[in-house]
Amino acid sequence: AEKDGLSGIRYFDTAVLDELTRELHIEKELQEALTDFSFDLNFQPQYDAKEQKLRGIEALVRWKGQDGIPISPLEFIPIAEKNGSMVSIGGWVVEESIRTFSIWKKKYDLNLILSINISSGQYREDGFTERLLGILKKYGINPEELELEVTESVLFEDFRTAVEKMSVLKDYGIRIALDDFGTGYSSLSYLKGLPVNTLKIDKELTDGILKDLNTGIMTESVIAMAKKMGFETIAEGVETKEQLIRLKELGCDYIQGYLLGRPMSGEDIEQLLK
Ligand code: C2E
Ligand code: CA
Ligand code: CA
Ligand code: CA
Repeated sequence: AEKDGLSGIRYFDTAVLDELTRELHIEKELQEALTDFSFDLNFQPQYDAKEQKLRGIEALVRWKGQDGIPISPLEFIPIAEKNGSMVSIGGWVVEESIRTFSIWKKKYDLNLILSINISSGQYREDGFTERLLGILKKYGINPEELELEVTESVLFEDFRTAVEKMSVLKDYGIRIALDDFGTGYSSLSYLKGLPVNTLKIDKELTDGILKDLNTGIMTESVIAMAKKMGFETIAEGVETKEQLIRLKELGCDYIQGYLLGRPMSGEDIEQLLK
């Protein structure tokens, strides 16, 4: 028994060590990636639930380590947020996605929304709004064509300042979506009066909508509430026809997910846009 216990401890140590080594490795490679900006963007389409007309595209950052193996944003973004490099990565995503979007807009005469994920560190930066407006102007994109996807975490540190910033953005015409809604510490109490346009129903809710009774009830309530409060709803992670049908029944406005379109390269999304 003692032997088992010891090996149990040794196993635990190795796992922690592996994780730390991996984190340090990613951090070191990130540093290098920042100097030559070896990041890339994918775009995922968002569709109207009723007519399945294209509503917009969400830019999603992609990154490969030096061995050419993709590293998921779920893995490197938390590390980049911790060491402060997410602000410059996010800044690159903002300019590059708006630049690319402006080329497509002119080429194909588009009337679509570009959604960009904004990390909370990035959102909190002084001058965030001014820089964003400058980039929109530089590329000839109207504020109404842009939607910022933020999570509730932007509200945590300083609620008032964060909401004020949202109001200013919204007054300029920029759209705001609350991402990953329905997970984490979502609290309904602050939603009332929050200057956001859109609630993005998290994949966790979409996944459980037909499988788990309570998740189904929750999703139904969230959509009904969002409608009454005047928010648009987008469900993410829609993978099956059954989920799509159910979401449509519940009155969800927009659908995003592998069923209708995966995140794809700029070249592939261009095929879809023309
Ligand atoms: P998110 O914003 O909630 O984005 C949705 C994630 O789910 C994306 O993963 C997308 O590829 C994936 N997805 C979309 N539809 C489906 C589906 O039907 N099934 C499944 N299984 N997955 C689906 P991705 O691209 O790996 O991004 C993960 C997270 O990383 C994002 O979650 C977002 O929080 C963050 N992220 C990605 N790009 C950026 C970025 O440019 N800036 C910031 N700040 N965060 C980003
Ligand atoms: Ca998102
Ligand atoms: Ca999500
Ligand atoms: Ca998210």
